[in-house]
Amino acid sequence: MVIFSGIQPTGSKHLGNYIGAILQYVAGQDRADPAIYCIVDLHAVTVPYEPAELRTRTYDTAAILIAAGLDPDRCILFRQADVMEHAELSWLLSSVTPLGELNRMHQFRDKSAAQRELVSAGLLFYPVLQSADVLAYRAHEVPVGEDQREHLELMRRTAERFNSRFGEILVVPEHRIPEVGARVRDLQDPDRKMSTTGGSDQGTVYVLDEPEVIARKFKRAVADSGREIVRRDDKPGISNLIEIMAVARGIAPEAVEREFEGSGYGDFKTAVAEAVIEWVAPVRERYHELRDDEAGLEQTMAAGAEKARAIASVTVAEVRDAMGVGPTRRSVGSGA
Ligand code: ATP
Ligand code: MG
Repeated sequence: MVIFSGIQPTGSKHLGNYIGAILQYVAGQDRADPAIYCIVDLHAVTVPYEPAELRTRTYDTAAILIAAGLDPDRCILFRQADVMEHAELSWLLSSVTPLGELNRMHQFRDKSAAQRELVSAGLLFYPVLQSADVLAYRAHEVPVGEDQREHLELMRRTAERFNSRFGEILVVPEHRIPEVGARVRDLQDPDRKMSTTGGSDQGTVYVLDEPEVIARKFKRAVADSGREIVRRDDKPGISNLIEIMAVARGIAPEAVEREFEGSGYGDFKTAVAEAVIEWVAPVRERYHELRDDEAGLEQTMAAGAEKARAIASVTVAEVRDAMGVGPTRRSVGSGA
């Protein structure tokens, strides 16, 4: 079983990324062979960004992932741009991806509406590159948050369309969305997901935030006018806090509801903050131990890229061959 997932090196990673994705990455190392995790710098250039910062953020992200429990000996951890097959396959797959579907993707609609200046074609193309990321490894499973469900469905249709047009080459992947914490909400605006690029700073809890910052953000979290600590559709703020606490403590959301029945919102928020602070502290400490060694991180990513390339290049060669692109495979490497 092959697992693949990608994470952007934009900004610091937040609790949504940690709960929705990174925890699943860590668990995937025991379930998959191989588990492949990619820092997607090519995706990060689809919104405004600073070139020098992108490199720094890539190291930040690599260090966070390792600090959270990814072990480069038990998974393949690499940087997307180091494996050119992603870009090539993206172009090839664009021929079986309908423009209309890309146009309808919620992420494209939300991010392009939020953009003040140029809305890049890359933003529209994002799901095609993402399809290439996964399909290049013939991954069976893709751990992601709820926000990526739509892109995964597009990816599945792309793989099916490719296979029916050119032959059974690609694996149609399944998403793996966690049951609790699939959509961690912005603490200031619980109708929106916690987000690297789109959220409010006060509503976004970063894994690397200092304890007092985490405490302050939870204290100011928007709740609702009621007083019960239960999960309900009309209580997105409190429901969000219950889920965050459940994951942080490794218990069921129902157990959190029972424990805090009759408590006030203030006490509950303080308890959630304490649980999160205790839970992420070891990740922050390990991160600071790892982050300074950029040469080491670079070496880890380079070794990962080599393993990734060995897999992706085989798929892309088959795709090229089936599509009639480039020389026939017999002549590849024959020197002719
Ligand atoms: P952006 O908002 O700019 O897209 P992001 O915060 O979504 O950034 P990504 O690198 O795009 O960060 O996402 C990495 C992973 O984290 C994806 O699998 C995504 O589904 C998941 N994820 C992101 N935000 C949340 C969230 N609020 N709750 C749960 N999972 C999330
Ligand atoms: Mg995202």
